[in-house]
Amino acid sequence: MALHLFTPRNWDGNERLRLQLNDEDEAKTRGRGIWRATVTDQATGKRYEARSADCSLPRCHCDAIAFELKDGE
Ligand SMILES: [Zn+2]
Repeated sequence: MALHLFTPRNWDGNERLRLQLNDEDEAKTRGRGIWRATVTDQATGKRYEARSADCSLPRCHCDAIAFELKDGE
């Protein structure tokens, strides 16, 4: 199974995460406009909530931001 590199901005900083997503999760991150998805980093097994985010262009939401979900969330 191919993995896809997903590099959303970290919620609480400017650093980017480097997540390895499977096909199913990667498809969730290709939504147009506003989207939100729970994805799993295949490298670590950690789950993240990811959302579309503004890039520097007006009305463009091609960037993404994410934060780690702890157990039970
Ligand atoms: Zn953009």
